[in-house]
Amino acid sequence: MPLDPAVLCERLGEFRGTPIRLMAWELPTDGPFGMLISRPHEDAIIYQSHTTKAHQAHIVLHELGHIIAYDLAGERPVATQLRTCYSDRDERDAEVIASTIMCQAILATRRTKRYGIDEPWRPSVYNSLVLAES
Ligand SMILES: [Zn+2]
Repeated sequence: MPLDPAVLCERLGEFRGTPIRLMAWELPTDGPFGMLISRPHEDAIIYQSHTTKAHQAHIVLHELGHIIAYDLAGERPVATQLRTCYSDRDERDAEVIASTIMCQAILATRRTKRYGIDEPWRPSVYNSLVLAES
């Protein structure tokens, strides 16, 4: 996993001035794998604890996609809102954002390996990319 979604959420929360909290819960298997609770002072992403790390990363990035989509559209809820159901357009937007983030992280890792760059990252660059040790 070239990307650490927890670090991404932490950095994005700092950047936007509203923290993004991650909570792993044992969710019912017949329901959604993730949920988003938006409150005025924070967003909380709840994700299934009983699944693989890769699936958890995808769930978190998908919910993060919803946050980014409504930030970009200026549609962040002003009151507390539990979001588990979205329109098809919302789901498409969240999925495209999640996939784009993951693809860019994978490409960055592959490029680094392809060019045989063994030098360690500059800490400032590495931290901004929120890449995980592989
Ligand atoms: Zn969704």
